[in-house]
Amino acid sequence: MSNPDDLTRNTDVVIVGGGLAGLFCALKLAPRPVTVISAAPLGQGASTAWAQGGIAAAVADGDSAEAHAADTVAVGAGLVDEKIALGLAREASARIHDLLHYGVPFDHDLEGKLAVGREAAHSARRIVHVRGDMAGRAIMSALIEAVRKTPSIRVIEGYVAEELLTLDGAVTGLQLRKVGDGTAKPVIIASRAVVLATGGIGHLYAVTTNPAEASGLGLAIAARAGAIIADPEFVQFHPTAIMAGRDPAPLATEALRGEGATLINDKGERFMLARHPLAELAPRDIVARGVFAEIEAGRGAFLDARQALGAHFAERFPTVYASCMAAGIDPAKQPIPVAPAAHYHMGGISVDARGHTSLKGLWAGGEVSSTGAHGANRLASNSLLEAVVYAARIAEDIGGNPIAAPARLPAAPTTPQNCAMPPLTEKTLRAMMTSHLGVIRHGDRLAEAVRAFAVIERNTGNIVLRNMATTALLVAASAWARRESRGAHYRVDYPSERPALAHRTMTTLASARQIAASLSGRAPARTVEHAS
Ligand SMILES: Cc1cc2nc3c(=O)[nH]c(=O)nc-3n(C[C@H](O)[C@H](O)[C@H](O)COP(=O)(O)OP(=O)(O)OC[C@H]3O[C@@H](n4cnc5c(N)ncnc54)[C@H](O)[C@@H]3O)c2cc1C
Repeated sequence: MSNPDDLTRNTDVVIVGGGLAGLFCALKLAPRPVTVISAAPLGQGASTAWAQGGIAAAVADGDSAEAHAADTVAVGAGLVDEKIALGLAREASARIHDLLHYGVPFDHDLEGKLAVGREAAHSARRIVHVRGDMAGRAIMSALIEAVRKTPSIRVIEGYVAEELLTLDGAVTGLQLRKVGDGTAKPVIIASRAVVLATGGIGHLYAVTTNPAEASGLGLAIAARAGAIIADPEFVQFHPTAIMAGRDPAPLATEALRGEGATLINDKGERFMLARHPLAELAPRDIVARGVFAEIEAGRGAFLDARQALGAHFAERFPTVYASCMAAGIDPAKQPIPVAPAAHYHMGGISVDARGHTSLKGLWAGGEVSSTGAHGANRLASNSLLEAVVYAARIAEDIGGNPIAAPARLPAAPTTPQNCAMPPLTEKTLRAMMTSHLGVIRHGDRLAEAVRAFAVIERNTGNIVLRNMATTALLVAASAWARRESRGAHYRVDYPSERPALAHRTMTTLASARQIAASLSGRAPARTVEHAS
């Protein structure tokens, strides 16, 4: 790891995040010098490493980018940007070949062609995978090795980006701090180009599949700098997190249902049959609500792979098998207890087709961004695809500009002290996200959450908690403002989709704060802006 003290020199491009989006972008920018900042050591603290299914790519005979894009649009509940979805599907094959070139050992069939699996709501087998459920780990270890061998990439591990610095509306650098050291002095970096690749927001929820680093900090710092945030209310809940008493909850990949595993309650009934023609392979939001309803009704929900996999479970899905066995469940012989868990954020920092945000000098890629590809509900295994496609586009966009002298070193912003996190408040925030902004939402509870998060955001002296509350506020305010149910956003007080609201949300932190103020009786109400 490099010494962060000399970072102010030669920081032409800074990438924040060491998951798929960040590392792929750094490799694509080579030999241009880049600095990658990662809160956790590479390989840890990144959702990428935990991906079990794989990457969606229409590479099989008889499949097409058009069919892949059509499935993406169908799942997105009217909010997918069709051009963006098609672009993503068309670039999939080239990016898979890049990954093969970096050493990712994707599975091949006996004819030497890429082996493809099936996942929910895909009309064809198109999930490129590694040794069953090992895709994420294999992708990360290949990319980390490639990054370590690339002299133009400097990696700073164990530092968290806590603020973006701006001058005349342009991003000119960022402020970092050593993770877990409340007394450490902040490090200020000047940079011409900042790429945020900080992942998702799942860990803002008490029940989640995401690592602790996925707490929405990247989204928060962009929003605080004034960036436009898109669709923050749309959070995908994975229907089959394993209830093993762990935080985060281990995942039972959707590929299990693709291979025939069924969802049953404690009476052994397949409850999804009555809910959707595709039953267990219905879109995620519908399956998540089905699982949630069984649990709420006291019947419990279980994933049953006894018939579909039985004795082959360990060999076909080694990661899930290990998680189950660690919890004392033998999935070859017993149904696995499951529940929905916050899993993926469709919303994020709004970016254009090049991955550029609304702020000069700032790009965003991977889960922290919102490209328009997912709409109100992500199609399984499209997120790793989006991360590689946009990381490559960002590298191309930045690469097209000459290397300039480092930006003027901006003054350090006045920020609160990074005192040790008060655990109770973080716990309260996460519990409230799960209870008030979960699978089923209600206007009154959304308003309550908006008010609570606004108070934390305004008053806390802890930067990490403030940034968590910033993102939570954006999610809650937009969920409150969207008075309908659509995709993953389901409101019992507005249970139907409203055609007039078939627009993406484009909002800012100022808008979210204004909603909070109006709900607290402190200022007139203003709704979130919707793009036409
Ligand atoms: C259990 C699980 C299984 C999944 N399975 C699949 C799948 O099969 N297929 C699929 O397409 N998608 C899957 N997803 C979703 C997918 O893994 C993620 O959307 C994707 O990996 C995000 O990549 P990323 O590079 O944007 O972020 P990540 O891989 O999460 O990396 C984020 C990086 O940013 C760092 N970071 C965060 N905040 C800061 C900060 N403030 N300062 C410095 N560094 C910071 C983190 O330490 C990390 O290095 C899965 C997700 C989970 C949790």
